[in-house]
Amino acid sequence: MFLIFGLRTRDNVVSRRPMVCEVCGVHAVQSLVRRSTKFSLFFIPLFPVKPSTYYLECGHCGTIRRADRRALVA
Ligand SMILES: [Zn+2]
Repeated sequence: MFLIFGLRTRDNVVSRRPMVCEVCGVHAVQSLVRRSTKFSLFFIPLFPVKPSTYYLECGHCGTIRRADRRALVA
């Protein structure tokens, strides 16, 4: 008998809204992305192994930066 297990990290786009980018300064669509890592058994994700982290991705320059709590509420 053998077991196939591992960790799987996935990115999910939570929302998109027009905001001013902190890097390029252009008013463009910013995507809020949630990155979560889950333990998987036989390629089936079962439970998260660490808290999810949130990132903002600029639609103009493509910069990905960590989102703080103000971005999640606004
Ligand atoms: Zn930008």
